[in-house]
Amino acid sequence: SSFAHLGFDEQLMKAIRRSEYTQPTPVQAAGVPAALSGRDLIGIARTGSGKTAAFLWPLLVHIMDQKELAPGDGPIGLILAPTRELAQQIYMEAKKFGKVYNIRCVCCYGGGSKWEQCKALEGGAEIIVGTPGRVIDLIKCKATDLKRVTYLVLDEADRMFDMGFEPQVRSICNHVRPDRQALLFSATFPRRVEKLARDALHDPVRVQH
Ligand code: AMP
Repeated sequence: SSFAHLGFDEQLMKAIRRSEYTQPTPVQAAGVPAALSGRDLIGIARTGSGKTAAFLWPLLVHIMDQKELAPGDGPIGLILAPTRELAQQIYMEAKKFGKVYNIRCVCCYGGGSKWEQCKALEGGAEIIVGTPGRVIDLIKCKATDLKRVTYLVLDEADRMFDMGFEPQVRSICNHVRPDRQALLFSATFPRRVEKLARDALHDPVRVQH
């Protein structure tokens, strides 16, 4: 499989080539076409599989489409992650590839300055990457809202549950419009995660690597 099969435009292809990625990883080769087609997705994949780009590249395409279809303000993509470290890693990758289209990204995690995160959100963002507790905090204090979110990623769902974030994750899922696209990634697939997938995803494609 090669990147040419994924159908990205020349701008994004250039950024991918600059990263010196020579071919899609298996989770990208299987997951990207499904995500680009608008399907919900379950990815059983761990760190190192290339899962971050597998959900980020289709998100960028989705944002460019949405910006044309439904102009406005507010985040379009919301990515939830269990820890500050993971949120920051995703954020770095989102910034790197989002730059191609001038897509703005804000990272919101517990333990970081809420004031700074509010300021960043005020500046405008198409993508929020964050930990569930802090994202809820920022919604409660009206620093952002989920009205325009149409692409939701639950990354490392098993770890989010291990960290006790199940109620926050479920609450956020219930507050994002029901016609959104949702992608769930998890290294393991215990009952609780399976139940979340059943509740939050619609007819998902399953990708396992
Ligand atoms: P992840 O599984 O998303 O945490 O990614 C693991 C690492 O693989 C990251 O450092 C990525 O930059 C890198 N990576 C992602 N996709 C590819 C690819 N297609 N080829 C080579 N490296 C990649």
